[in-house]
Amino acid sequence: MPNDRELATFRKQLLGWFRQFQRDLPWRRTKDPYCIWLSEIMLQQTRVAAAIPYYERFLQRFPDVHALAAAPQEEVLRLWSGLGYYSRARNLQKAAQQIIAKHGGQFPTRLDDALALPGIGNYTAAAILSIAFGEKHAVLDGNVARVLARLGAIHGDLRESQGWQELQETADRLLEPKSSGDWNQAMMELGATLCTPKSPQCLLCPVAQFCEGRKLGIAESLPEKRKTRATVQVTLAAAVFVDEKGQTLLLPPPKKNTKEKSSADHVPTLVSKMWHFPTLSVTGESAEKLSAFLRKLMPGAQRRNWQLVPAGKVRHAVTYRAITLLPFLINVRKLPRVPGARQVPLDNIFSLPVSNLTRKVARAALAAAASVPAKH
Ligand code: SF4
Repeated sequence: MPNDRELATFRKQLLGWFRQFQRDLPWRRTKDPYCIWLSEIMLQQTRVAAAIPYYERFLQRFPDVHALAAAPQEEVLRLWSGLGYYSRARNLQKAAQQIIAKHGGQFPTRLDDALALPGIGNYTAAAILSIAFGEKHAVLDGNVARVLARLGAIHGDLRESQGWQELQETADRLLEPKSSGDWNQAMMELGATLCTPKSPQCLLCPVAQFCEGRKLGIAESLPEKRKTRATVQVTLAAAVFVDEKGQTLLLPPPKKNTKEKSSADHVPTLVSKMWHFPTLSVTGESAEKLSAFLRKLMPGAQRRNWQLVPAGKVRHAVTYRAITLLPFLINVRKLPRVPGARQVPLDNIFSLPVSNLTRKVARAALAAAASVPAKH
């Protein structure tokens, strides 16, 4: 870790490297805070290569904060569909509406005002304000924390609040005040391209001479692993109705502020927050339990004798949950009526905002439908 005397050289070397070798990314060609904000939100849980087409499509449809604020939420979610973690998209739109209501449509330049917007935490606020406006706020995320832990040979769980606070102070000390935007991006770029979690490329590193972790030969083992939460196994069963025209039935996300019990109360929010197949958490006899659930969900369907055809298994992991989803194909002449539900072609469920898990279920059901002759 550079001391105060070495700081100028450290900054010069890292910035020089960044300016020469940075990746050409669409959000680096602009200083528009709206674009930078959008990219930062998308990149929170998504790899750069996966985020680029979404970023470009989103900007084409919502080129500024006004277009985003005025759009139907369903359309915003549809353009986010496939990126996952949909609360990001909902918060993005809520924040756009607040920017118009409270800040005249201009992204706020004060840290407190930025932090008051939904979905914007310390890291995102520092990134937007430094890159768009040159404000002197150092970013600290997992990438930057890894670089700092290696530079300083710091042991222990970095996410513990005391340790994280000290890392923030170190990041603040290193920040190049005259080019805070480039500086923050340089730190992130170093973490993303050379100082990677596995096999850091120290031979190419522009600041290797200041790195305690490298000198001690322990760089790759830092930061030390966090104590992880035990994985919880979850089994779900989903009903994929298909009528003679290839239409299927999707249930809506729960209405805001509703106290009503809905089918969504039975399933994890990762499924129910978007349009979804009728889905139930199950243990044991999944087909029977799903049948009973469908009869309850669909008044008037008590006498129907549906045949539930197993359509394989879908596996999905979200944070500490390992989900096994069992889709059941149900061929019917006419789709049953469910209040609020929509009928959409099974091979084009993406006309509504759906989660990745729902997409996987649709794919499994389509594969099963192709191999099982339909008996309506
Ligand atoms: Fe990371 Fe290696 Fe550079 Fe240290 S020398 S900052 S471990 S890439």
